[in-house]
Amino acid sequence: MSAYITDTIQYLKQSSPAQAEFYQATEEVLSTIKPLLDRNPKYQKNNIIQRVIEPERQILFRVAWLDDRGNVQVNKGYRIQFNSALGPYKGGLRFHPNVTAGTIKFLGFEQIFKNSLTGLAIGGAKGGSNFDPKGKSDAEIMRFCQSFMTEIFRHVGDTIDVPAGDIGVGGREIGYLYGQYKRLTGKYEGVLTGKGLNWGGSLVRTEATGYGAVYFAQNMLAERGASLEGKVCTVSGSGNVSIYTVEKLYQVGAKPVTVSDSNGMIYDERGIDLNLLKQVKEVERARLTRYAEERPGAVYTPVENYPAGRNGVWSVHCDAAFPSATQNEVSVEDAKELLKNGCICVAEGANMPSSPEAIDAFLASGIAYGPAKAANAGGVATSQLEMSQNASMLQWTFEEVDAKLKRIMEHIYRTASETAKEYGAPGNLVLGANIAGFRKVADAMIDQGVV
Ligand code: GLU
Repeated sequence: MSAYITDTIQYLKQSSPAQAEFYQATEEVLSTIKPLLDRNPKYQKNNIIQRVIEPERQILFRVAWLDDRGNVQVNKGYRIQFNSALGPYKGGLRFHPNVTAGTIKFLGFEQIFKNSLTGLAIGGAKGGSNFDPKGKSDAEIMRFCQSFMTEIFRHVGDTIDVPAGDIGVGGREIGYLYGQYKRLTGKYEGVLTGKGLNWGGSLVRTEATGYGAVYFAQNMLAERGASLEGKVCTVSGSGNVSIYTVEKLYQVGAKPVTVSDSNGMIYDERGIDLNLLKQVKEVERARLTRYAEERPGAVYTPVENYPAGRNGVWSVHCDAAFPSATQNEVSVEDAKELLKNGCICVAEGANMPSSPEAIDAFLASGIAYGPAKAANAGGVATSQLEMSQNASMLQWTFEEVDAKLKRIMEHIYRTASETAKEYGAPGNLVLGANIAGFRKVADAMIDQGVV
């Protein structure tokens, strides 16, 4: 490994201890941009790497709230405004008990380059809390969201920083956050994306990450003279990204056969029942055991029965895989099993779902591998379309937004693919996406001086 990478990771370990996911995300980017740095001494001269790994601002705060029994609960809150060279800070909020500062930092770092790749004017940020929405009442969720916004309202705004959803934050949470922002500031503005359709939200935003991942896979396969039609697909997770990946896969003639949650997975050989999945996850907010109860023939496997260190979803034979749950859900053993079983396409709907060794295995095999920064950028891109509609006080039709999303995914694919060719690594979309994403941000930083 080059000295500048080991030195940077060493520096991060000292200056920001115990942030393993952040080191992983940093190393992934740094290890692929070397050809760009070698050709362009200006990046080193301007110390861009040292600057880009340091968030512009980190807001760490206490979120105190009352549970339904009147007990005071306390969580950690984060908003990390990583880079604003290309536009207002933009990125989701994640509410999950495993969230640490390192999680939010890795997500924020990834977001910089993902947002850059979309070609739209958005900087990179991320936020969240170690709050666990599971099992909480609506009233508890509302009080938590109100308390969270009471801290961050002074740091966000429609041209400053525009948060959105991520794991544990969907339409309901965005609603409560928005209501509190409006109460505190008196402003009805596009400060959040993923809003309800009758109060400033954009059509297709809910579907966008999943639809975008499938559009991305279509682009990768088309260049290889293949398509998703008739293909068996595995999808992990059962949140917003997974549900709309499943929906789009059906629309393009593929057959999705798995979904999962943190307790187990469903294998439904006839194809996932989309209406039932939506009923269980979006209406009942229940676990996938409910799906299995309602769907004879679907096989439910609890995580305890997965082989050690493995994710059961990736043992199911498939032509294309869509990791859409969470970081590091694809181990190198999972990757090898997918390849052994004949998988020809992986498109990542989640953020950093594949371990570094799994990524190496995918790249070495030469299959169509769409890394998260590129493949899942449809969500944040459509958030930017929501910002555009809010700014112009217009609302576009479903078809208009979907057509734009499709074009953006094609643009991201072309950019990553052409950049990979330009740097002598055709087909390596990790390298292509990282170089293209980094170059645009770095050039903007140089143009804007030492800030
Ligand atoms: N959380 C999503 C992501 O990882 C979307 C962020 C947004 O819409 O701002 O890109």
